[in-house]
Amino acid sequence: MKDTADTQNFRLWLKDRCGSLVSFDEPMSRHTSFKVGGPADIFVRPDSRDLAVTILMRAKESGVPVFMAGDGTNLVIHDEGIRGLVMILSNVPPDIAFEEFPDGNVLVTAHAGVRTKTLCRIAIERGYDGMNFALGIPGTLGGNIAMNAGTHLGAMEQVVHSIRILSGNGTLKNLDRKDLNFHYRRLHYPTLTDTTPLPVIFEASFLLRKGDKKTIGDEARAIVSARTKKQPVTLPNAGCIFKNPEGKDPAGKLIDMAGLKGRVQGGAMISEKHGNFIVNTGNARAEDILYLIELAKKEVHERFCVELETEVKIVGL
Ligand SMILES: Cc1cc2nc3c(=O)[nH]c(=O)nc-3n(C[C@H](O)[C@H](O)[C@H](O)COP(=O)(O)OP(=O)(O)OC[C@H]3O[C@@H](n4cnc5c(N)ncnc54)[C@H](O)[C@@H]3O)c2cc1C
Repeated sequence: MKDTADTQNFRLWLKDRCGSLVSFDEPMSRHTSFKVGGPADIFVRPDSRDLAVTILMRAKESGVPVFMAGDGTNLVIHDEGIRGLVMILSNVPPDIAFEEFPDGNVLVTAHAGVRTKTLCRIAIERGYDGMNFALGIPGTLGGNIAMNAGTHLGAMEQVVHSIRILSGNGTLKNLDRKDLNFHYRRLHYPTLTDTTPLPVIFEASFLLRKGDKKTIGDEARAIVSARTKKQPVTLPNAGCIFKNPEGKDPAGKLIDMAGLKGRVQGGAMISEKHGNFIVNTGNARAEDILYLIELAKKEVHERFCVELETEVKIVGL
């Protein structure tokens, strides 16, 4: 981050305003499921939405770049770290509101830092149908919506009713489902002209259906059990590295057929159990993971003429 009078003043203001909620040169390896990533110049975890908005507006005025992270379960952060400010919202208390309608619809509204597993659990407890597809997907609602996270059972696009993003003047702007284009592991904002940097999701509403508690609970148990059996790896990872190419074999199978399972680079390894997973065997650096990503892309392209596209977000420098 450029060291200017503005950025220095911003740091001082943050220190004063946020105390222990802010840290400087914070290793991002502490905040990613891969346990990899160099320092963020500034790392802040506000404990209220108002504080989060105030910080983001001050950062903008001071010319400090911002990266919103969720739980860091889909990130490869460069060893050199991230310049500017990284914010997470999971320190904001999880207030969740419910509105039940006579036709059986239920609108659940939660802030973006709430963990998806919390929403899944509450839906099961209350007998709301629709969230079970997300059981086992790690991360926050903000990260899950930004990624349109999902499984073969469904994706966030099926349940998101609307979201609230931070607009340029510091107010929250509502975007209905029709204002959002969800794609495979990607969200696009067709009604917004300037999406650099990508909008910060602050809150979301989900449309669920009142259902039978027991049926929903039984289904949840079956999904969790199947997922636990299939869960390929126990070492630190970031889920699937590549998107599955359309109309082709899945990325993991292509990587397997290219003979790359078990391939090691430094402290990183292409999982022996699942070709689309890279694991941190203990002391991986981002450069090890990035090497294996490039290797898989190159080999799969050479052998099968398929361009693999990363699902994980590569961030920083
Ligand atoms: C073991 C394991 C299993 C996984 N299984 C699945 C799976 O089954 N299906 C699946 O889809 N994914 C899976 N993933 C990947 C990951 O969990 C998802 O991509 C998840 O949506 C990431 O959420 P997060 O909160 O960790 O976001 P991060 O990884 O922190 O960020 C992901 C992206 O979201 C953006 N983002 C985060 N918060 C906000 C916000 N408030 N506003 C705007 N943008 C934001 C970030 O800038 C970044 O671009 C798995 C990962 C692991 C480690």
